Amino acid sequence: MTESRLIAGGNVTSYSVDFPDNDSHMCGSDDRLLKGITGVPVCPSCHFKTDPYFINSAFRVKRALYDLSSTYDGYVIASLKFREACRRLHIEGADFLTLPADRRFFVVKPTSVVAFDVEARRVKFTKYCETCGLYGATAGATPAFLRAESTTGLSRADIFFGSGNSRGPLLIASRDAKEALSKERLAGLRFLECRVP
Ligand SMILES: [Zn+2]
Repeated sequence: MTESRLIAGGNVTSYSVDFPDNDSHMCGSDDRLLKGITGVPVCPSCHFKTDPYFINSAFRVKRALYDLSSTYDGYVIASLKFREACRRLHIEGADFLTLPADRRFFVVKPTSVVAFDVEARRVKFTKYCETCGLYGATAGATPAFLRAESTTGLSRADIFFGSGNSRGPLLIASRDAKEALSKERLAGLRFLECRVP
C-alpha cells in the first residue's frame, strides 16, 4: 500500500505541518553538540540532550528565507511574520520562544498535545533509556496518524520524533488554522493530511 492510500477518505480535520530546513544547527547534530555550547541539559546515561526546546543563546538562523523552517536538530523556527499571523488570526496552542541573538525568528513550542496512534502507524522506537525515559530514536512521523483531532489551531504529537540530540516536536494544524494560514502568503509551509478516526 502506498503511503497516500493510508489516509482514509472523508473530511480531513488535522494536518501535520512540513517545512524546509534553514541550514542551521541550534545545539549540534544527532550525536554531537556544538563545541563551546554550555548549559545544555544532557542525560547522564545516554548522553543525549533531554530538552527539545533548549535555546543556544548565540543561535542565528542561517537561511532566513522561510516563515516556518527547521534546524537540522529538530527545532521548529517561525518568523516574526508567522507569529504575528497566528496572533492576528487567534491561532492558539503554541508559544513562541525568543532567540536572544536573532530577533527575526522564534522557536515554536507547542503547548497543546494530541495523541499519536503509534500502533496503527507502526512507529519505530529504538534504544530506550531508563534514566531519562526517552527513546534514542523514533521514526515514522508522516503521514501522521492521530487518535483524535486537535482542539487548538496548533499542537504537537505526544511523542517526539527524530534521533539523539535532534528529537523534536511534530507540529499539527487544525483544518481552520490550515485554511487561515494558507491565505497569508507564508513561505515554506506545506500541510500534510493526518489520519484521524
Ligand atoms: Zn537517557
